[in-house]
Amino acid sequence: MPESGERRMIVRARVVATMDGAPIENGAIAIFGDRIIDVGKFSELSARYSGQEIIDLGEQALLPGLINAHCHLDYTCLRGKIPGQKSFTDWIRAINMEKSKLSPQDYIASIKEGFAEAKQFGTTTIANLTAFPELIRQLPDTPIRTWWFAELIDVRSPNRTNELVDSAIESLKPAQNYGLAPHALFTASKNLYQRCEEAGKNVLLTTHLAESREEMEMFRDGSGLLYEFMENIGRDMGDCGHETALGLFVGTPGGRALPKRWIIAHLNELTESDFKLLEKVKTRFHVVHSPRSHDYFDHSPFQSERLRRLGFNICLGTDSLASNESLSLFAEMPAFQRSHPEISPEKIFEMVTVNPASALGQQNTLGRIRRGFRADLIAIPCREGGDLFGQIVAFDGEVDWIMVNGRTQRIQSTCG
Ligand SMILES: [Zn+2]
Repeated sequence: MPESGERRMIVRARVVATMDGAPIENGAIAIFGDRIIDVGKFSELSARYSGQEIIDLGEQALLPGLINAHCHLDYTCLRGKIPGQKSFTDWIRAINMEKSKLSPQDYIASIKEGFAEAKQFGTTTIANLTAFPELIRQLPDTPIRTWWFAELIDVRSPNRTNELVDSAIESLKPAQNYGLAPHALFTASKNLYQRCEEAGKNVLLTTHLAESREEMEMFRDGSGLLYEFMENIGRDMGDCGHETALGLFVGTPGGRALPKRWIIAHLNELTESDFKLLEKVKTRFHVVHSPRSHDYFDHSPFQSERLRRLGFNICLGTDSLASNESLSLFAEMPAFQRSHPEISPEKIFEMVTVNPASALGQQNTLGRIRRGFRADLIAIPCREGGDLFGQIVAFDGEVDWIMVNGRTQRIQSTCG
């Protein structure tokens, strides 16, 4: 991530959407080093900090940098390589086939390309799952703020789970922010989930849960394509045929414990009994929905409002380019809006700013434009009049201006 300098400046734009009260027309932000030190009308700030360098962005909306709550930059190079499959299980076979052709150098190139693309679309913070945490030391300077999650699978070697977790944590240590990601209930053992939970209170946790109909069939009914695939590779199927995936995750007795720090990707496939369980669970975890990946797989409708009313924090993520076309959260917002027209553009924008900041435990430093917060900012063109958040959600393309950690970044287009 860019190191902050000692630079002081005022950034002015036609409007500032702070996500911390009403948008400010003819607004400005004062920045010192990596922090926002003041926010208000340009007239007030330019008087209060006279003589400071002024960056005038003109007819733009100045916004908090976007936060991608779930992606796998490992697979940026798989864009367009996996056409829609008949089943989720076929997709797993197809991605495994593609992965077998890739070397560590390919993965490093893929991750770097992913960072550059995410940045050009205005993402300043990313929650990135990697299946190769040992490569992190070769990527010391990420261009945006990064939470590295080691994605862990022990289905083929259930006797080496402890070793797997210990070596992942060793590999993650050079990263500033990190967490663990037992992949999913069908690939990670109960012991693996427990070891991840015991890894320390500052270690964030994420997992994929209730993503596909086939996962539901496998756990609830003990049948289906995913069941057969997993049984064939030697998985112990004793936990199948009794409960839904969610039931297995939060249910008692014998369910995985559920401290608040879990960030759960997907939750597409939930039964009525699952919703009853969710009403009862004591902790309200964070949920990441990936609208375009959801459409690619044609999963069941995502019950965003129902989950939100129960108190779950809904965030958006791109997931990987093995099931999506780009790493643009600006493309996820309209995709979400198409299937949830009842949700306001402002609430949708919260799903890529305020909500994921909270999922990462950064509700006091990221996701809003507020005094004391990190200077992670972006700007997009903005017309006078009309609904500001409607314009933000409808925006399509690369951002004009970006600042990460108080440093203005050059956007290098990698498209086309
Ligand atoms: Zn994922």
